[in-house]
Amino acid sequence: MDTNATRAERAVQARAAAAVLTEQGVDGVATSWVDNAGISRVKAFPVGQLEHAAEWGVGAAPCFDVFLLDDSITSSPFSQGPDGDLRLVPDLDRLVPLAAQPGWAWAPADRYAQDGTPHPGCQRQFARRMAAELERRAGCTALAGIEVEWVLTDAAGAPVTTAPAYGMHRFTELSDYLRDVLNALTAQQLTVLQLHPEYAPGQFEVSVAPEDPVGAADTTLLVRHTIRAVSARHGLRATFAPALTPDGVGNGGHLHLSLWRDGGNLGAGGPGPYGLHREAETFLAGLLDHLPALLALGAPSMASYLRLQPSRWSGPYRCWGLENREAALRLITGSTAGQANAELKCFDATANPYLMIGAVLAAGLDGMAGGKPLPDEVNGDPAGLGTVERLPGSLAAAADAFESDPVLRDALGEPLYAAVLAVRRAEVELFAGRTPEQVIAATVDRY
Ligand code: GLU
Ligand code: MG
Repeated sequence: MDTNATRAERAVQARAAAAVLTEQGVDGVATSWVDNAGISRVKAFPVGQLEHAAEWGVGAAPCFDVFLLDDSITSSPFSQGPDGDLRLVPDLDRLVPLAAQPGWAWAPADRYAQDGTPHPGCQRQFARRMAAELERRAGCTALAGIEVEWVLTDAAGAPVTTAPAYGMHRFTELSDYLRDVLNALTAQQLTVLQLHPEYAPGQFEVSVAPEDPVGAADTTLLVRHTIRAVSARHGLRATFAPALTPDGVGNGGHLHLSLWRDGGNLGAGGPGPYGLHREAETFLAGLLDHLPALLALGAPSMASYLRLQPSRWSGPYRCWGLENREAALRLITGSTAGQANAELKCFDATANPYLMIGAVLAAGLDGMAGGKPLPDEVNGDPAGLGTVERLPGSLAAAADAFESDPVLRDALGEPLYAAVLAVRRAEVELFAGRTPEQVIAATVDRY
């Protein structure tokens, strides 16, 4: 939504949208935001209230900034207690009837203070700010897309199928379910690029077309909500959690990114490695520089580090490589210039996607400002080389890196930075002494 739209303009847009929704048989609207633990929280209201919600927002407590994944609440210097109120303002440009939740529509929310000023802890506005910075400072825009992997289980939590990875067998067994996923996504104006069975038992993946950074974050949430809803309609459950078993392949949430100027992809046709333009190369160098700290945003749960292990294509090494699935940063040239992009494989779906994307843009901008080229690329499995650095192996180590990263701190702004750090530290403490099995059990139904 045009963030400069006045209350009156929002009201006009909402009135028209409510009339259309009513025509479509929608009774209520859910508006959600994602907390710093990566959990989507929601408020819902009847369609008749949409105009009021767009004008004035829907109330929500500020203490959600310091919620943990188990719904317990910590504190930060800026988020101390149960008092205060914020306004959730649904973004009407992303308002959509939910195909697998008949009678409901959904819109992501921006969070404002009661006086109408942006809430400094609003992650979605942070991502929008960083996308604007990219345009202002570097004169380019980014396209982003997040791959969604999930494991489909029965009500008791057992994977619904053990048919072969990537197998036609598995695809055939779940044919009706997958068709419902595909149709629900498409009915919501999402462009599905690919849908396939993945490696782990019961695991599937969907990818959708890239879009602007905030749009990509909105879309990945809508994709996950939709998969969850379709699964429920089939009497099944979807989990996007990073780890399902201590030793198995987990669910990633890989972030694909490309930079554009004047309709041209800065990842193709340039003088750098594999056609990177200088700005794209320095942007990626910035990502490698900040990667340990970025993990605190892109792989932010204890379970993230059970997934981020060698030989699982999760990208646990701090390096880049052409089509290298063990490298945190996988360069993809594609078959046309438009397809060239970089994939951050080390991230997962416990990330708040707005925080993840906003922080990646901040790190890339820092790389552009520094002008450092990419280090040598790594081909083959980094595990065999013995010389490639592993990314932080624990949430505590990632939080340490985040705490000592002034660039991310400055980009997030003190209130958001402090809240994120408080949540990371509190979750480390919450899980102290717990076994991997216990961490998984506490995570698997939360994401
Ligand atoms: N499931 C793997 C992960 O945890 C990724 C597999 C793939 O390369 O798509 O990231
Ligand atoms: Mg995959």
